Amino acid sequence: MLIDFDPGRRGKHRYPIAVPAGVRAGVVPETLCCISNGEGPTVVLTGGVHGDEYEAQIVLRALADTIGTDAVSGRLIIVPSLNFPASQQGGRVSADDGKNMNRVFPGQSAGSPTDQLAALLAGHLFPLADLLVDVHAGGRDATVVPMVFGFSNARCRIGPAALDRILEAWGYHYIEHLQGIDSTACGAALRADIASVEIEGGGGGRLDPRELAIMRDGILRGLAAAGVLSPHLPAIPFQGVHVTVGPENQVVAPRAGLVEHLCALGDIVAAGQVIARIHPLAGGSGDIIDVASRTAGHVLRQTHQVHLAQGQFLANTGTLRA
Ligand SMILES: [Zn+2]
Repeated sequence: MLIDFDPGRRGKHRYPIAVPAGVRAGVVPETLCCISNGEGPTVVLTGGVHGDEYEAQIVLRALADTIGTDAVSGRLIIVPSLNFPASQQGGRVSADDGKNMNRVFPGQSAGSPTDQLAALLAGHLFPLADLLVDVHAGGRDATVVPMVFGFSNARCRIGPAALDRILEAWGYHYIEHLQGIDSTACGAALRADIASVEIEGGGGGRLDPRELAIMRDGILRGLAAAGVLSPHLPAIPFQGVHVTVGPENQVVAPRAGLVEHLCALGDIVAAGQVIARIHPLAGGSGDIIDVASRTAGHVLRQTHQVHLAQGQFLANTGTLRA
């Protein structure tokens, strides 16, 4: 799928990623950019694992265009949209197989289109990588604070302590700690003993230029901290918070209805605090029900939808790490 890819070639080169078999007409090849310059780590940057997370794709295309070979020490591999059938079709998942790419890693080279593209990353790029930076965003259905999280183990070339320094260098207020999922890109990287960073931010089905700038600046700072890119921006001493996110931080709609958020992203809420109300779809307004957060914490993510089914994601918080 990756045509004539030569990761050892010095300089900045672009390689087409062929449209996988099984993708409907109208989807055109994506382009991988490889910038290679002497000694240093190899960092793989991916966007578009979820097709509707467009902030990442815009930022990574711009970085591929603007970063020069001389600014790189080692190798930077940029794939603006890994699930490009989904993003070109305007969806979160590919219409060709309906699979959530971030649950199919390490993928299958003989599988469906989404499986094939996951296998391209895990099979062809992971063996080169010291660090995976997988850039996400809120997508159409959610809005999320700018935050980073990451995974490493003692066998990774970038170990846990070094990864913490890279995460703090991102310059974001929130560093999230959570249990990884093996079938995500970052989960599969960890199983291959490759450290990873996942970025979140933006969403809500629209582009905000401030959020694009936050995403770009964080990546520039993070890549500089990882030693693959010369500093483009002044470093920011970390003044943010480390938060943990577990099942107790998830808030779902207790019944179907229309959600009214009573707090904003980034607000600090107490355990038991009402953070939203659900308006009924029929009957009197006396049937409004309050929805409380089970834990104290920072509001990190909220649904951007109004009409929710029972059990559907409403918001999640992050608990300050002890
Ligand atoms: Zn995503």
